Amino acid sequence: MTSKKTPMAQTRILVVEDEDAIRDMITFAFNNTGFMLLEAATVEEAKALMQESIPSLILLDWMLPGQSGISFIHWLKKKKEYLDIPIIMLTAKAEEENRVLGLETGADDYVTKPFSPLELIARIKSVLRRGPIADPKGQISVGPLCLDIYSHSASIHGEPLTLTRNTYDLLHFFMTHPNRTYNREQLINFVWGLTAYIDERTVDVQVRRLRDELKPYQQHHLIKTIRGVGYQFSSEDFDV
Ligand code: CA
Repeated sequence: MTSKKTPMAQTRILVVEDEDAIRDMITFAFNNTGFMLLEAATVEEAKALMQESIPSLILLDWMLPGQSGISFIHWLKKKKEYLDIPIIMLTAKAEEENRVLGLETGADDYVTKPFSPLELIARIKSVLRRGPIADPKGQISVGPLCLDIYSHSASIHGEPLTLTRNTYDLLHFFMTHPNRTYNREQLINFVWGLTAYIDERTVDVQVRRLRDELKPYQQHHLIKTIRGVGYQFSSEDFDV
């Protein structure tokens, strides 16, 4: 045991997997990584654990007793506080179709069982690198932008931004999923959920409002239009 504090010391990973052997293997893989493992054998157990603390990432088995992995993803993506938690699916080799469906539903990556501890850790680190996650105070910072996920507010260079709930949700999604292009349909699904009354033109309106808010600070170019595809938020092009 080392007492040295690493940046990963707070990283909690929730594994939802009914096979003890796989959970044991993940426990072993996490030795000396600084990841803290939260274990659930069912979706119900996972939901109970998530009420105590929001994990930084979820490792999710597909075939679970009771509620399936995919229905859990659907549930997570409808919850504002959970929708940006990265998900890595644990799939069996024969489940190719499920894997595609999982990625379309919002999983970030998958590993095929049996996987090696090194491969699993590498995938986790890669997915965690893709976007910032909230610190224990609920703040997410990208360049001069800062979000407070508890108060649903945002600021730039310490100045508060005036955002509607929909625009805040969009900025939250962009900041936690930078440098990737999303089409309008994906943004509707991932940001507001399928049940929200938001169509593709409304997405454009929300993007325009967000750019208008960032414009006085010369940061509106961070939300890029990817012609013929959709939108992308850049975490690298900040003007300072
Ligand atoms: Ca299983």
